[in-house]
Amino acid sequence: MRILLVEDDKALGEGICTALKPEGYTVDWLQDGASALHALSHESFELCVLDLGLPRMDGLEVLRRLRAAGNAMPVLVLTARDATSDRIAGLDAGADDYLVKPFDVAELKARLRALLRRSFGRAQPVLEYRGIRIEPDSQQVSYQGAPVSLARKEFLLLHELLAQPGRVLTRDKLQQVLYGWGEEVESNALEVHVHHLRKKFFPELIRTVRGVGYLVDKA
Ligand code: CA
Repeated sequence: MRILLVEDDKALGEGICTALKPEGYTVDWLQDGASALHALSHESFELCVLDLGLPRMDGLEVLRRLRAAGNAMPVLVLTARDATSDRIAGLDAGADDYLVKPFDVAELKARLRALLRRSFGRAQPVLEYRGIRIEPDSQQVSYQGAPVSLARKEFLLLHELLAQPGRVLTRDKLQQVLYGWGEEVESNALEVHVHHLRKKFFPELIRTVRGVGYLVDKA
């Protein structure tokens, strides 16, 4: 689950990153609006946590441009003070939810879970492929009816591959799904995860496309 956090307050940004990582989110953190808009237009995230008061383009403008470009990604807005006008402006610009600073991290987590549930209810149904069943909402996986335990990155990788059978996914694309920008990619990590998935399910599940990436055949 990849989240973009846009927050120019360093202490708050670090606090949010630290709080969300153990929840299984990959958090990418940017500190100005222009970089955020660029990232949102060129990369894929499941959700954005967006501060409104930002340098180089305020959060409302980022949100307006995102929606004007037809991007329906869930966005939770952070507002600096309990100003009704800020909240209304945020919702008008297309925010799905908002939190007023200071907020409790537990509340942020609960709001994010709710937003993701709603978003997956819309866009990400249960995936079934040759006896494998993935429930994105609860992150439950089974094979021929028996539960299979996967590490977080194995889950992310399997979900990405099974969501697009018949399509070759490049190494770059898959590494982007598994790692945030700040995280160091261990060499051969992708190969190791693929190896584990083949062992936990069946060897022909994931095909290697030499020099390019990986592929799951159409069912
Ligand atoms: Ca700010």
